[in-house]
Amino acid sequence: MNMREDRSLLLPAATIAGTRYGASVLESGNAIHDASTGDVIGWQEHADAAQVDAAVRAAHAARDAWRDRTPASRGVVLRRIAELIAADRARLSSMQQKVSGKPPLEADTDVSDAIATFEYYGGLCADAALFAVEKVSLPDDTVSGERHHEAVGVAALIVPWNFPMVTTAWKIAPALAAGCTAVLKPSELTSPVEHMLADIMTAAGVPDGVVNIVNGGGEVGALLAAHPLVDKISFTGSTAVGRKVMQTAAEDMKRVTLELGGKSALIVRADADIGHAVALAIGGAFTNAGQMCSATSRIIVHDDVYRKFIAALEVAVRAHVVAPPHVGNVAMGPLVSRAQRERVQALLDEGIADGARIAFSGALDSACEGGFFMAPVVIAEPDARNVLWTDEVFGPVACVISFRTDDEAIALANDTRYGLVATVVTRDDEAARRYRKALRAGLVWIDTPQLIFPQVSWGGLGLSGIGRELGVAGLRSYQELRHAIMA
Ligand code: NAD
Repeated sequence: MNMREDRSLLLPAATIAGTRYGASVLESGNAIHDASTGDVIGWQEHADAAQVDAAVRAAHAARDAWRDRTPASRGVVLRRIAELIAADRARLSSMQQKVSGKPPLEADTDVSDAIATFEYYGGLCADAALFAVEKVSLPDDTVSGERHHEAVGVAALIVPWNFPMVTTAWKIAPALAAGCTAVLKPSELTSPVEHMLADIMTAAGVPDGVVNIVNGGGEVGALLAAHPLVDKISFTGSTAVGRKVMQTAAEDMKRVTLELGGKSALIVRADADIGHAVALAIGGAFTNAGQMCSATSRIIVHDDVYRKFIAALEVAVRAHVVAPPHVGNVAMGPLVSRAQRERVQALLDEGIADGARIAFSGALDSACEGGFFMAPVVIAEPDARNVLWTDEVFGPVACVISFRTDDEAIALANDTRYGLVATVVTRDDEAARRYRKALRAGLVWIDTPQLIFPQVSWGGLGLSGIGRELGVAGLRSYQELRHAIMA
């Protein structure tokens, strides 16, 4: 059967300078599924090498005009994008729920995050000081020095499927604010969301060629990353692929920002409010069905409160309603795809075969038939070498382990080559400060859920990546620092 027939949603292989292009090869593409039913709801065509080349050339051709506009005028466009996303909230949220199976609250939060990101960078564009030439004071008064922040040029933006709308906003907003033009490569699993964003950007006045899109899987991402006219790559995805992207970038010394995986810890001290700790543990491990780079899937609990915590966690996990988005009290949706569920199940099986013990797990709602659902699982006291303790599972599997001293908790939390985030649940300010300093993580939450603000930069240490997104650092990551010394 020709998969492209009978599809209400046929997504083009590429959008280049405002024009949509189909796949050059029939059947080059992949089906888009409703994650909650497993039904095919669309077809994503894939770009070929010539289309990737044309997209990068379009971004290159549009580069100077966009860069030379005033930051304030770029900011007007960014704020307009935020307004149009807000006006389209219901449609965007509903598409996000369909392709990822996210519960309505989570899908709505994604829309809100995208709006906040475009608003924030729109606001930064109005801050003339951030873009102004800065005087550099020199110890020689016969010359003067200047510092300039100038757009890097053409940015290749490669994003995964777990927070498509948010990750795309985190890249496009600062890139456009800085004066860069872009070629976006969405995940082939969730691209309908980015296609909607592309229409919004056009309606908001983003000129043709400033944001181009190429669709497809890893081969298309690799072609884009390797293109000689790309000046910077901003990649979010797995550490394994991030490594390849960095190797590719090395060829032309392209600038890179890499937001990669994680294996983060949530520490519950003896003074914690246990109800609050359980709520943070559930949010940290099972939001987006655990498919979060920031998942705090290693839960480290003080001995004195361990039993109480585990008992309360069990009640919460058993009450965690796993269901499609339309079920009223849904708390957790499906995984994004059949392949992802198989990957998570395989890791779980491997961990169990190696001695890990399931303490308890949740259950699926009766409405879960057909989709890519998986119940949340809690592993108690795994061996420190067990794969479920050491590796990113990217699914609803959390491990709980006990500790006696703060030093022991810190050592357990830091016993990983990743370093994205950490959560500490404590009411002791002094202890919180010690943990904040000692934990190797780009962002530490103290006694709060995983709050994310565009003002606060995001990024990790070690295998979790290089560079920072969001905040002023996110803007600067799309600029080159240049100087002049004048007689
Ligand atoms: P992935 O690495 O398989 O793919 C990410 C993107 O890269 C996709 O668009 C994919 O098509 C593309 N790609 C694949 N091979 C490529 C190649 N050789 N060259 C260029 N591009 C290529 O990751 P995924 O499975 O889509 O997402 C899950 C991973 O993303 C997890 O490891 C997760 O931790 C990570 N992640 C990190 C953050 C963060 O901010 N640190 C945020 C979200 C997800």
